[in-house]
Amino acid sequence: VPDRTEKVYLGLGANAGDPVEQLRKAVAELRARRIILEPIALSSLYRTPPWGGIGDQPWFVNAALSGATALSPQELLAALKQIEGDLGRKPAPRRWGPRPIDLDILLFGQRIVRTPNLTIPHPHITERAFALLPLVEIEPLLADPATGRRYADCLAALGDEIARIEKMKDEL
Ligand code: ADP
Ligand code: MG
Repeated sequence: VPDRTEKVYLGLGANAGDPVEQLRKAVAELRARRIILEPIALSSLYRTPPWGGIGDQPWFVNAALSGATALSPQELLAALKQIEGDLGRKPAPRRWGPRPIDLDILLFGQRIVRTPNLTIPHPHITERAFALLPLVEIEPLLADPATGRRYADCLAALGDEIARIEKMKDEL
């Protein structure tokens, strides 16, 4: 066990192929490659409508997890991109279009990261019910490290977006 780890929160999504199977494979790879270490907490799976104005694509399946990591934020991003590629994700033909797997860093401890290729907390976290709902499920009192605002409050502020999300019977 590495002597220095930090607690990270990842957002997982998929809407091409078999989304639930893709998410399960991603979690298996995160564990097998020692990218995410115990203790690991997994949210439920949620069916969510496409976000960002691109409606002509399948609904997504989304989830969140928390776990420990011994990697740096940039190493973690590179490892997530590696898994995305290995699970069949091609460079995006269009922004926010269909993808077999999407792995995002939602939070990395209390760190604030702002670089051209990596922003933590995730830049869209407070506007996306599909990210906030599973996150708040695994950590109801979690607050944004930059603003101090509770994610549960951000979620409540999104109003009827939540009503369109369906909790699934399948689990990760
Ligand atoms: P999205 O996840 O917003 O739907 P993409 O998966 O296509 O969109 O991500 C595009 C880029 O966002 C990635 O190549 C990555 O460099 C960048 N990025 C910035 N911050 C993060 C973060 N916190 N987690 C994951 N990717 C991020
Ligand atoms: Mg992404």
